[in-house]
Amino acid sequence: MRRDEIAAGLAEVDARIAEACHAVGRDRSEVTLIAVTKTRPAEDVRILSELGVRDVGENRDQEAARKAHDLAGLPLTWHFVGQLQTNKVRSVVGYADVIHSVDRLRLVEAISGEAVRQGRDIGCLVQIALDDDPSRGGVPPAGLLELCDEVALADGVRLEGVMAVAPLGEEPARAFARLRDLAARVQEQHPQATVISAGMSEDLAEAVAYGATHVRVGTALLGRRKPFVR
Ligand SMILES: *Cc1c(COP(=O)(O)O)cnc(C)c1O
Repeated sequence: MRRDEIAAGLAEVDARIAEACHAVGRDRSEVTLIAVTKTRPAEDVRILSELGVRDVGENRDQEAARKAHDLAGLPLTWHFVGQLQTNKVRSVVGYADVIHSVDRLRLVEAISGEAVRQGRDIGCLVQIALDDDPSRGGVPPAGLLELCDEVALADGVRLEGVMAVAPLGEEPARAFARLRDLAARVQEQHPQATVISAGMSEDLAEAVAYGATHVRVGTALLGRRKPFVR
């Protein structure tokens, strides 16, 4: 049964997070699991919710909007983790509680304007590019502090911290060490920005070792996704 599969995946991921915390002397309660449910049916999300998951992540607006609408009564925090185009902001602000992919001023302005218009208060994580591949999103480290200042000043949004994806072809631990240092610099200016969203199915232990407060896990929880055709 699907419920048993998901429960087993969840137990395994929880154990991996606990072990990663233990290995570096962190408390398990310091790390929040975000279940990345992209490409999965709303029913999977409902099961996760029944099993006690409170945070879910999606990366495509149309799909996320539909699921958030269908599951509106559940006690879930919706995280938008995908790259975000300004023409989708109106929709995303309607259901997302936290946006992890804030990486340019125009996007901050769009989210802020829409949040004010809709009377919403949106948590924002500034996504950092840990390599030079612009196709994966993120602000280059040189522009990080300025963008964080813009988020902190904007209405309708809260600067909660930073997010990153480990670059391809680099040891994740090295990249997450850079992320930790960048997050610390942000926190010097913005003490409330305590979130470090990092770590996925393959590299969550490394992310936890370098201070991740939120791990975003899909495959290890719910199984392999079908190849996605755009
Ligand atoms: C899909 C996705 C994840 C989850 O990846 P898995 O390898 O399936 O755990 C995490 N973060 C982002 C931004 C994603 O798009």
